[in-house]
Amino acid sequence: EEGDEDDTQPRILLMGLRRSGKSSIQKVVFHKMSPNETLFLESTNQVHKDDLSGVSFVNFQIWDFPGQVDFFDPTFDDEMIFAGAGALIFVIDAQDDYVEALVRLHTTVSRAYRVNPAIHFEVFIHKVDGLSDDHKIETQRDVHQRANDDLGDGGLDKLHLSFYLTSIYDHSIFEAFSKVVQKLLPQLPTLENLLNILISHSGIEKAFLFDVVSKIYIATDSSAVDMQSYELCCDMIDVVIDVSCIYGPMEDGGAYDKESLAIIKLNNTTVLYLKEITRFLAGLTPHTWRANKQKPSGRFWNTPALYDRRNVNLLTRAGFPDDGRA
Ligand code: GDP
Repeated sequence: EEGDEDDTQPRILLMGLRRSGKSSIQKVVFHKMSPNETLFLESTNQVHKDDLSGVSFVNFQIWDFPGQVDFFDPTFDDEMIFAGAGALIFVIDAQDDYVEALVRLHTTVSRAYRVNPAIHFEVFIHKVDGLSDDHKIETQRDVHQRANDDLGDGGLDKLHLSFYLTSIYDHSIFEAFSKVVQKLLPQLPTLENLLNILISHSGIEKAFLFDVVSKIYIATDSSAVDMQSYELCCDMIDVVIDVSCIYGPMEDGGAYDKESLAIIKLNNTTVLYLKEITRFLAGLTPHTWRANKQKPSGRFWNTPALYDRRNVNLLTRAGFPDDGRA
């Protein structure tokens, strides 16, 4: 219902040819579908507005478009669609011949850019699980080159495209979505800064702020993200949610709540600490105690209450609206 739309919600559009993988991406990232189940998804044939405001910290909408949107159809209102969009993700099936997809990418982004030049244009070179490492790099180079040549020929040199190699069969789709969402968060520099402060005062190696439902990370400190620790954190979220669902109290609509906290010690000396921050966000800190390295400050680790309060304070100071969820 158009009238119900909240215009302040950053909107992400998910577009691409039919069968490129749009519905699968949406189901896997936001609805916990396992990648194998996507084999049986019905192909998209209408605009799908997936409003996540009730389940996810990330208050955006996904508009899943049918592959063959006809821009010349008079009922296609590009003002309405592109004007409020924060990002447009265009999905290209890398396992297929992508000539037609590139043509469609060009028409789509040039049309959108004319309506709203502030949109972030994100190209997911998708289904790369079927490609060798060399083939992945070559495909990315080729898609990048051809897409930008088309833009140059069309006099759209100012239109910037970002490229990501993605697959629903590994963490690359979550990583790519994290980057896309982070570009839409005005609080990002503040959050990064606060996580840097947390790191430097605690001796922890790395801290992430996660949207629990999607496993998108909203922010991290400014040290480099290593894929392995990101994957570890994603796996820990799954474990904690599963254990909460099996053993947690079911009375108040869900076992995962603002009291949730978990520490997992792995036998390779890595310690993972997960702390619920709001109903939707968790702080996660994978930390490795190496023999030659100092333990993180005892006060921090031995006093979870202090840690809780600190974390909540940190977020309060980051200026999130207090909507009663925190
Ligand atoms: P849509 O029409 O763009 O919504 O495409 P679907 O989501 O229906 O996906 C079409 C097919 O691609 C399905 O059979 C999916 O299982 C498959 N698919 C989606 N993502 C991936 C991926 O990352 N890797 C592989 N190998 N297949 C994928």
